Amino acid sequence: MTPGEVLKQYFGYDSFRPVQEEVISTILKKKDILAIMPTGAGKSICFQIPAMMFPHGSIIISPLISLMKDQVEALTEQGILASYVNSTVPYDEAIERLRDMYRGRIKILYMAPEKLEPSYFTDCLAQVPISMVVIDEAHCVSQWGHDFRPSYRKIKTFIDSLPKKPIVTAFTATATPAVEEDMKKSLGLSHAEIFRTGLDRPNLSFRVIRDADKEALLLRYVKAHKKESGIIYCATRKAVDEVHDLLKRAGIRAGRYHAGMEDEERRKAQEDFSYDRTPVMAATNAFGMGIDKSNVRYVIHYHMPKSLEAYYQEAGRAGRDGASAECILLYNGRDSGIQRYLIDQGNQDEEQKKMDYHRLNAMIDYCQTTACLRNFILTYFGEKADKPCGHCGNCESGQAKVDVTDTAALIFKTVRSLHGRFGASTVADILAGSRAKAVLDRKLDELPTYGKLSFVKARHIKSALNSYVADGYLVREGEPYPVLRLTNKAEDVLEGKANVFGLAFGAEDAMADAAVER
Ligand code: ADP
Ligand code: ZN
Repeated sequence: MTPGEVLKQYFGYDSFRPVQEEVISTILKKKDILAIMPTGAGKSICFQIPAMMFPHGSIIISPLISLMKDQVEALTEQGILASYVNSTVPYDEAIERLRDMYRGRIKILYMAPEKLEPSYFTDCLAQVPISMVVIDEAHCVSQWGHDFRPSYRKIKTFIDSLPKKPIVTAFTATATPAVEEDMKKSLGLSHAEIFRTGLDRPNLSFRVIRDADKEALLLRYVKAHKKESGIIYCATRKAVDEVHDLLKRAGIRAGRYHAGMEDEERRKAQEDFSYDRTPVMAATNAFGMGIDKSNVRYVIHYHMPKSLEAYYQEAGRAGRDGASAECILLYNGRDSGIQRYLIDQGNQDEEQKKMDYHRLNAMIDYCQTTACLRNFILTYFGEKADKPCGHCGNCESGQAKVDVTDTAALIFKTVRSLHGRFGASTVADILAGSRAKAVLDRKLDELPTYGKLSFVKARHIKSALNSYVADGYLVREGEPYPVLRLTNKAEDVLEGKANVFGLAFGAEDAMADAAVER
């Protein structure tokens, strides 16, 4: 059978997507590969089809233990010889599955990385001829990635210990250049052929709505798009329950999904969503990996996630069918405080924390930039982005940009006079003329710029200030309570060498209306 025939007979599709065909034919030539393809690009087929065509079985290393059973059941239903081993499978049964693989009754064996620890199991595994080892979610091997799994570090040792070297293939949806390097090194793929499809998803429109009344906005949006299917991601289980209640009270057919629910309840929620019985789903990030619903028209983030990697993956669940879809993030400064706190309180080592802060800061910058959101994402992932996309929230409101040099200069002067001792809130308080004790005690009311923007709400000043960070006029330094410093770009403005264009104070409210009315 040719790959195309396998595609038709087992998966029911008429043709490959361009990259799939290339990846598959390279693997069939017995070459190692590393493929970086966005969510929804169709990675699974790229390794499942070669695995079905090779003489011996293949191992798929995947961190998604909770999904293995479902994935394998789906494959089995399609008539594909698949199984899995992870901590939920009893030892004897796991060995039995190896025997089945030996006898050719299993061609695809999903495996949790923990299973690679040397043991009687791996001794048995070494006796089984293996055609290919697939590393799914390969970014998990990198400490630079957003989802580091120490057990992924054992993969290379395991592969090297096999009596006969299998073909090694690795797949991931997102990888910054640093993560790509790390994957090559840590998985022994320096000679592998690299496939990097553009990460851009032209049918997705991105929007960030800042400082909105989230509940009111969410209800307006969902009601205005009643016939459409959407996911609302929240940062905590509690928030999922609250959003779910909010939607139900408003008469919207909504489901909910988070790890605190019973298995059966979760399964039902997912099914109701898949079959459009409850077109809207409120969920934590536990929902989504492996869900395969193509007509999701919008993904709303009720809270900011901890990294752009996580954001792009979750938002990318919209519009898998290729039709246009919206990815909206509701941002409010407090949300970043929560994420910062979580990192600060976490039990990771200092180095890891530093990288988490780094990723969080990029996420915050995304929320606050006034530049093209799509380009911001693509640039972050190391892709060239030339001209603004023209249809993200920022591009659309770009026409509303005005010359804000005067107010920007006031903000920059204030930052300069504080000599890197204070953060955004204090700067905003000073300009707004706050009588807060913290301001008065430190005699900040004696600064020449004190109260110069007293006609503007402090939160609007703060959001302007944050956009200057995102746009490179100011930098934040120090964790977990960052202070502000000027960059040369801001010095140029103060010297009258450059002007600043940005949104007028309060323009966010107009952007929220535009999102609802799209
Ligand atoms: P990824 O793992 O890259 O996020 P999946 O492997 O889950 O993507 O595939 C995304 C969707 O695209 C699935 O519904 C899959 O069945 C479908 N798909 C994959 N390849 C093709 C193809 N050649 N033609 C049509 N649909 C495809
Ligand atoms: Zn844009």
